[in-house]
Amino acid sequence: MADIRNDPVVVIGLGRFGTSLALELTRRGTEVLAIDHRPKVVQSLAGQITHIATADATDLEALRQLGVPDFYRAVLAIGSDLEASILTASLLVELEIDDIWAKAVTRQHGRILSRLGVKHVVFPEHDMGERVAHLVSGRLLDY
Ligand code: ATP
Repeated sequence: MADIRNDPVVVIGLGRFGTSLALELTRRGTEVLAIDHRPKVVQSLAGQITHIATADATDLEALRQLGVPDFYRAVLAIGSDLEASILTASLLVELEIDDIWAKAVTRQHGRILSRLGVKHVVFPEHDMGERVAHLVSGRLLDY
């Protein structure tokens, strides 16, 4: 079976979560195409990520022009703008991206993304809260 760990990844939405993810993937040697509709954000990250573009991810034609349909993996890192998240997720499914990861801010948001066909829904704040709780209780056991 082919190793997909180093396949290129498209990261959509460069808020704190998307930026940190895109930079970490780049640091690990993964080719990244990062997309955000805020030109200032894109300019500030230019040169740090393999490919970066200013575009509205809810625009199917823009995604096509950027070559998004050629990607096997995508991470949808738009969270608080629910409409943009749902619309973009439905386009990624329509473009038949095999491995779609998406950030959700609420359980309902996560359910909608799953129903649309997103394979992996993550809840960064909730998940990190759980991890920190494990770390904290682990530490406390040491005392
Ligand atoms: P974080 O917690 O990661 O900082 P957030 O949930 O507070 O993110 P969001 O509003 O979800 O912030 O947006 C994350 C990023 O997605 C922002 O940089 C925003 O510009 C970008 N974004 C939002 N809508 C679109 C869109 N339609 N096309 C492209 N990028 C978008």
